[in-house]
Amino acid sequence: MKVLVINAGSSSLKYQLLNMENEAVMASGIVERIGDKLGVLTHKKMNGTGEEKTVIEQAIPDHKVGMHLVIDLITHKEKGVISDKSEINAIGHRVVQGGESFNTSILIDASVKKAIKDNNPLAPLHNPANLMGIDVAEELFPGTPNVAVFDTEFHQTMPAKAFLYALPYEYYTDLRIRRYGFHGTSHKYVAKRAANLLGKNPEDVNIITVHLGNGCSMAAVKKGKCVDTSMGMTPLAGVMMGTRSGDFDPAIISYLVEHKGVKVEDLDDVFNKKSGLKGICGMNDMRDIHSKAEQGDEMAKLAVDMFVYRVKKYIGSYAAVLGTLDMVVFTAGIGENDDIVRKGVCEDMTSLGIDIDTEKNKGRFSKPQPIHKEGSKVQVWIVPTNEELQIAQDTVNTLK
Ligand code: ADP
Repeated sequence: MKVLVINAGSSSLKYQLLNMENEAVMASGIVERIGDKLGVLTHKKMNGTGEEKTVIEQAIPDHKVGMHLVIDLITHKEKGVISDKSEINAIGHRVVQGGESFNTSILIDASVKKAIKDNNPLAPLHNPANLMGIDVAEELFPGTPNVAVFDTEFHQTMPAKAFLYALPYEYYTDLRIRRYGFHGTSHKYVAKRAANLLGKNPEDVNIITVHLGNGCSMAAVKKGKCVDTSMGMTPLAGVMMGTRSGDFDPAIISYLVEHKGVKVEDLDDVFNKKSGLKGICGMNDMRDIHSKAEQGDEMAKLAVDMFVYRVKKYIGSYAAVLGTLDMVVFTAGIGENDDIVRKGVCEDMTSLGIDIDTEKNKGRFSKPQPIHKEGSKVQVWIVPTNEELQIAQDTVNTLK
C-alpha cells in the first residue's frame, strides 16, 4: 500500500510518499513560497543508496498548482517513483487542530471537513491551510481515500483536571478554551517506539516524552495514554522555544499594553516570534547559540540555561504526575542532536532516578540510543521522531 502524506501550510506544502509494505520513504519534498512571485519546489527521490534532489523554481500561484508539480515529479519517467498517481492508495493529511471533535484519525467526508472548519477559530493559521490541502487532494486524486490525522488527537486522553484552565468555567463551555496540546503524532510515535525498545507494551510503561525542535513540547504518557502535555490551547504555552515564550504570567499582557504601549494586535507576534531563545539572545537556532556561548557570549549562555531549566522543571512535575517513571525520551532537532541540552536537563536528577551517562550522551543520533548509566532507575533514550510515518500508519489503520 502506498500512502501520500500531506502537510499543507498557508504558503507551503510538505509531502512524503511511503511504501507501507516496508514503511520506506519513496519520495519527499516541500513546495514553498506558494503565492509569491517565485515559488520553489524541492523534491527528493530516494534510491537504494541515497537521495536525488530536484529543485524547481517558478511561480506557484496556489496549492493546486503546487500539487500538480508534485504529481508530475513523482510520476516522472526518471525522477519519479511511480508511473501513475492512481498507484497511491491513500492520502494522510496532517491537521493541526481537531478540538474535542476528534480523538482519533478519521476518513474524510463532508461532515469531517465541516468539523475541521468549525475548529478554524482555534487554529486560524493552520486549519484553513490544512483544509486547502484536503480540497486539492480530493480534486486531484478522485476516488482515493483521504484521512485526517490530528496533532491534538493523542492528547485527547488528558483528564479534565489537566486540560482545564482555572478560568471561569463558561470560557471552556462557551468558547472551548482549554489545553489541547500539539505535536501529538510525534509524542505518540516516540512513546510507542520507546516502549517497544524496552520490549514492553506501551500499556506497561510510564514515559515523559521531550520534543525539542523549533517548537518544543513535553508529554506525560501513562500506560500508553497522554495524561498531560505542556502546550496549551495554542502551541505558545509550555517550555521555552526558539521564538515562542512558553509559560509566563498572563498579567504581563495588560502591563505591556499599559506601560509599553504594545498594541493588542501585536501581542501575538511578540510572544510567538520575538520571544523564547530569540527574545533573550537574539538567535533562535540552538547551534548558533552554542557557538556564541562558546565564544563567551553571556546572553547566549543565559538563553541555554533558561531553556534547560524549564525542560527540567517540566520533567520534575511530570514525574510527580506519573507517580512512577520508567523512561525519559528526547526527540526532534535539539532532542536528537544536542548533548549539551540533554546533559543540562538530566544532571542532578538522581533523586528522581534519572542518571545519565555523559559519555553515551555525547553526539548526535539518527537511531534510537539509550544514554542512561547502567543501574539508572529511569531509562533515558533518544528516539528520533517520525511524524510522517506515524501519519501514514494512522492512515492505514483508519482505512482498516
Ligand atoms: P521543527 O520544529 O521546525 O521541526 P526541528 O525538529 O528540525 O524543528 O529542530 C530545529 C532545532 O534543532 C533548531 O533549534 C536547531 O538549531 C536544532 N538543531 C538541529 N541540529 C542540531 C545540532 N546538531 N545541535 C544542536 N541543535 C540542533
